[in-house]
Amino acid sequence: MFRISRAAAPAFAALVLAAGPAVRNPQAEGLPFKPSPVPGGVAVVVLPGRGAAPKATYRGEPVLVRQGAKGWVAVVGIPLSAKPGRDEVEVEGRPVPFTIKPKRYPEQRIRLKDERQVTPNAEDEARIAREQALMAPAWKAWPEGLVPSLQFQQPTPGGLTSSFGLRRIFNGQPRAPHGGLDIKAPAGQAVRAPAAGVVVLTGDFFFSGNAVFLAHGQGVVSLFAHLSKITVAQGQVVKAGDLVGEVGQTGRATGPHLHWSLSLNNARVDPRLFLRP
Ligand SMILES: [Zn+2]
Repeated sequence: MFRISRAAAPAFAALVLAAGPAVRNPQAEGLPFKPSPVPGGVAVVVLPGRGAAPKATYRGEPVLVRQGAKGWVAVVGIPLSAKPGRDEVEVEGRPVPFTIKPKRYPEQRIRLKDERQVTPNAEDEARIAREQALMAPAWKAWPEGLVPSLQFQQPTPGGLTSSFGLRRIFNGQPRAPHGGLDIKAPAGQAVRAPAAGVVVLTGDFFFSGNAVFLAHGQGVVSLFAHLSKITVAQGQVVKAGDLVGEVGQTGRATGPHLHWSLSLNNARVDPRLFLRP
C-alpha cells in the first residue's frame, strides 16, 4: 500500500504543483490546434469548476468554452492591439489570469494606384462607417446551437502571399495591420467553407469588396473578401467544403487573391493556427 510519510508530503505537494502547468498545454487538453498566446494569437485558459460549462468573457465579449481533458478551458482570441503582459478572462464574475507574450510582426509596403483606397474621401468615409456598423454584429455572431470545429481546411488552394499581422504601409502611409491571410489564386477559383457554419452577412464593401461572413458557432467567424462572385445567401447553412464564392480582386486588392480572416470573441487571429496540416 502506498502511504505518504509526513517527511515526504512537502515533496509530493511540490510535484503536484509542478505538474500543474502541463494541464495548460492544449495538446494535453485534447484541442486540435496550436496555441499561441500573443497579440493576434489564441490563448487556452484553464477554468475553475467541474460542473456545467461556465460562462466566460474577455474584454466584455463572450468567449468559446470547451471541455478539455481535465475540465473546462476558454479558447481566447487575442486582438493584434493587445499589449503583452498579464491579462484575464472573467468567469462568473471572477478573474482568471493568463499572460500575453510579445510578438512583433514584419512590415509590408504596398503601392496602390487608387489613392482613394489609401486616403478615402468624405463620401467613402461615410460608406466605410455604414459598412462597419453592418459588420460589427457579424463579427460577434453566436448562432444558437452551433458548435465550431477548431480545425479548418484552407478555403482555396494556393500559396500564402501576405501572412496575418503584417504592419502595413500603403503608399508610404501606415494603416491598420493585416487582419487575415492572403492566398494567391486565379480569379474564378472556387472558395469553399473551411468548416461548417451559417452565412451571417454578404455584401460589396469598400475595402473587402464582395465578401461573405460565415459564423462557425460560439463567436468563431470567417470572412472571405475580394470575391468576384458570391454563391451563398444570408442565413444559408453550409457544410465544410461547400462553395461560398469565387476568387476575385474586388475592393482594395492589387491582384486576384482570397483574403481570409478568422475571428474569435471579436478578435481577428491568425487562421494558420487552426489549419489542418
Ligand atoms: Zn488580405
